[in-house]
Amino acid sequence: METYDALLAAITPASGETRTIFDPATGQPVGEAPVHTVQDLEAAIAAAAAAQPAWAALGHDARSAALLKAADAVERSAEELARLLSREQGKPLNGPNARFEVGACAAWLRVAAGTPLDPETVVDDGETRAELHYRPIGVVGAIGPWNWPMMITVWQLAPALRMGNAVVIKPSEYTPLSVLALVEILNQELPEGLLTAVAGGRDVGEALAGHPAIGKIMFTGSTATGKAIIRSSADTVKRLTLELGGNDAGIVLPDADPRAIAEGLFWGAFINTGQTCAALKRLYVHDAIYDAVCEELTNVAAAMPMGNGLDEANVLGPLQNRQQFDIVAALVDAARESGARILLGGNPESDQPGNFYPTTLVADIANSNPLVAEEQFGPALPIIRYRSVDEAVAMANALDVGLGASVWSSDPAEARKVAARLEAGTVWINKHGAVDPRIPFGGAKQSGYGLEFGVEGLKALGVPQVING
Ligand code: NAD
Repeated sequence: METYDALLAAITPASGETRTIFDPATGQPVGEAPVHTVQDLEAAIAAAAAAQPAWAALGHDARSAALLKAADAVERSAEELARLLSREQGKPLNGPNARFEVGACAAWLRVAAGTPLDPETVVDDGETRAELHYRPIGVVGAIGPWNWPMMITVWQLAPALRMGNAVVIKPSEYTPLSVLALVEILNQELPEGLLTAVAGGRDVGEALAGHPAIGKIMFTGSTATGKAIIRSSADTVKRLTLELGGNDAGIVLPDADPRAIAEGLFWGAFINTGQTCAALKRLYVHDAIYDAVCEELTNVAAAMPMGNGLDEANVLGPLQNRQQFDIVAALVDAARESGARILLGGNPESDQPGNFYPTTLVADIANSNPLVAEEQFGPALPIIRYRSVDEAVAMANALDVGLGASVWSSDPAEARKVAARLEAGTVWINKHGAVDPRIPFGGAKQSGYGLEFGVEGLKALGVPQVING
């Protein structure tokens, strides 16, 4: 698309029921989203099922070529997509935010297109020759959240398409425009009917998760919804990849250099203004350097500008919706009332139009405090003091979620030893949340199951088939 207005016009429904989407920074309207129904979902699934066999028959090379062209199309429209994402989601254009997210869409498409996946010869001993192949599943359903709406949609659809499937997407009702716009651009390079976004509510999500013509659901969202999807999909024994909620711990070992790690800690926790699944949400710091880490982190955090995402100076934005704002505010208020020390933030301005919650650091807080024990999903970081590494590991592992974790140290060998003791799908060392399309990503415990990205991510979008002759 050549302009932002042309992109918005292309996704604005000509008729039917619509819902106005408001900018979380200003309260001003961004655009009109369609309110799709279960009937619209049926039509999308029928079109996907009709388009899928020819797409599968193209083979890996031709499908990869189409995905590379789709990545080029995203790059051609990158600025329009980033502006729409910024206005709808709230995230700034700059920093690791809207432009970064659109760039990631192109990067993930390219890696999904370029990752080789050959049949594996499992046994070849002269008597038996057994090969493991991955056949297309058919039609895949993709259900996504509102925090990284474009990037997570690409995480779901890129491997699905590469493996020869059609895809029907159910975006979050908070951020449908971003996903509709992305799909509009991708469809410049894809066959008709193969990829459709159905912008409905929970009823549409439920119908997709239970639909007999859907072979697999890729789901990213809360643990509670993940459990509902397991139930809805049970009768048709669907394949599931579930990327669910987290409450990631970071452990700062006593030998870490507080100044050297402060910026990494900040972005690990506050990327996308804290609305990130694999963000640092509980920071455990050894008593010996506790005060120094608090001070360095406060200095970094206080200097990061928050405001309207379209202002090029900002790197932090509003919370995407009022419900999330209220959750963060209630958790921080309760922490303050419990006697915890607010190092920074904690007092949102009450008469502002947007959902801005200030960058907040909370020290001297008990590990049992709800701000620590619950996924706050916003710009508030509790910093917990520990005295022995065993105690820190026990606190980090105490919850029933385990998406990511991190260890911060000047001694990589020591950090790896601690990393191996943490119950999380990924443990980063001296960084947090650095996802990479070549490296598998998935949760432990109730943060979900199944892997995305890399060759494991491709395999998850195929039906394994053994040919034994
Ligand atoms: P959510 O679970 O409320 O909604 C996610 C999607 O599920 C939406 O599209 C929603 O309409 C749909 N949905 C709701 N009920 C449904 C049902 N019964 N059946 C089918 N679909 C249904 O999550 P959210 O608030 O949009 O996102 C925030 C959550 O997502 C956080 O917990 C966060 O940690 C998690 N998340 C996880 C990852 C990851 O990779 N593990 C990434 C991003 C976000």
